[in-house]
Amino acid sequence: MTNLRIPGPTPCPPDVLEALSQQMINHRGPEFAGLLERVTAGLRPFFQTQNDIVIPTCSGSGIMEAAIVNTLSPGDAVLSISIGAFGDRFALIAETYGADVTRVTAEWGNAAEPDMVREALRAGSYKAVLITHNETSTGVTNPLGPISEVIRAESDALILVDAVSSMGCMPVPTDEWGLDVVVTGSQKGWEVPPGLAMAAVSEKAWQANESATMPRFYLDLKKHKEMAAQGQTPFTPAISIMYGLDVSLQHMAQEGAEAIFARHARIANVAREGVKALGLEPFADERFASNTVTAVKVPDGIDGKALTGIARDKYDTVLAGGQAKLAGKIFRLGHLGWVNDEDITDAIDVLRQVLTDLDYAVPAPAAASS
Ligand SMILES: *Cc1c(COP(=O)(O)O)cnc(C)c1O
Repeated sequence: MTNLRIPGPTPCPPDVLEALSQQMINHRGPEFAGLLERVTAGLRPFFQTQNDIVIPTCSGSGIMEAAIVNTLSPGDAVLSISIGAFGDRFALIAETYGADVTRVTAEWGNAAEPDMVREALRAGSYKAVLITHNETSTGVTNPLGPISEVIRAESDALILVDAVSSMGCMPVPTDEWGLDVVVTGSQKGWEVPPGLAMAAVSEKAWQANESATMPRFYLDLKKHKEMAAQGQTPFTPAISIMYGLDVSLQHMAQEGAEAIFARHARIANVAREGVKALGLEPFADERFASNTVTAVKVPDGIDGKALTGIARDKYDTVLAGGQAKLAGKIFRLGHLGWVNDEDITDAIDVLRQVLTDLDYAVPAPAAASS
C-alpha cells in the first residue's frame, strides 16, 4: 500500500472510507441537521472554544479567504506575519481584496519572534493581524501563544489564524489565546479527504463583520452561522466528507485530544531523529520544528526531484517536494492525522534505500542509533 507522506491530503482510516460511500441524504432534512450538529460538537474540543464554528465546503485557502473578507474592508491596515509560502498566500489574499498589507517576515525555516511582532505593532495601527500557526512549507510552528499575547497587549487588532495544518494535531486553545478567526481544512489533521473547511469565529470578529465591506457571497460566514442554527448550510455541502468526518471525530474523541497531540509530538520526533540518523539535516529551526510536517534539506549533490521520484516509483512512498523558492532544495515528510510510528519508520527506511540508490553515503544504522 502506498505510504502517502505528504502534509495533506492525508490517508483515511478504512471505516472513514466506508462512510464516504454512503447514499446521499437531503441536506435540508433532519438527518443532515443531526450530522452537522454532531460534527460541530466533535470539533469543539480541538478548537478549544465557545465561539461559533462554521463548516463551509471549500479547501483551506477558501476558508483563509473567508477569514479576511468577512472581517475587513478595502483599505484596512493589516499586519501579515509570514514565515513561508502559506503566510505569503494569506497576505496575498488580503491584498487581492484591497487591504493595505504590511509584512513582517522571518527567514524561511525560522519562526516569528514575539519581539518582532511587538515592534511592528508599535510602528503602526492595524485592524487585523494575519498569522500562520504551522507553516507547512517550511515545517515550522510559530509560538502562537506568546505572539497572540503580544498582539492583544499591544493592539486591538483581530487575530486571524491559519491553523490549517495544526488544528486537530497540536493544541490551539482558541479562547485562551484570544484568537478571532481560526481556520482549518478537512484533508490535514482530520483523517478525511479534502472538501470541508472549518472556522471558529469570535464575537469580536462577528462585530467586525457588521461593518466589513469586502465582497463576499459563497464565503459569507454570517450566512453559514445563521443556517447552522437551523441545522443547515447555505449551499449544498460536501455531504460525503461530512459522513467521513462524523466517523473520524468519533475516533478522535475516543483517542482524546491530549493523546492525539502527544502522538503527533512523539512521531514528529521519530521523523526528525530518523532523518538526522541518515546524515540529513532538518530545514526548520529545531526549537520550532513542526509536529505535523518535517522539512529536510536535500543534501549537496543530490537531485531533490530524483529523490522524491525514486521514493514514489520504486518504493511506493510519496514525499512532498519544496514549495516556491524551496523547490528542489528541501523535501517534506508529512506526519499528521491518521499516522502511526511505523508509517514514519517505514518512510525513513525507504529514504535510506533511496539515498543509497543515489550513491549518497548514509551512516550505518548502528552508528546512527548511538
Ligand atoms: C494546506 C494548507 C493550506 C491550504 O489549503 P488548501 O486546502 O490546499 O487550499 C493553507 N495553509 C496551510 C498552513 C496549509 O498547510
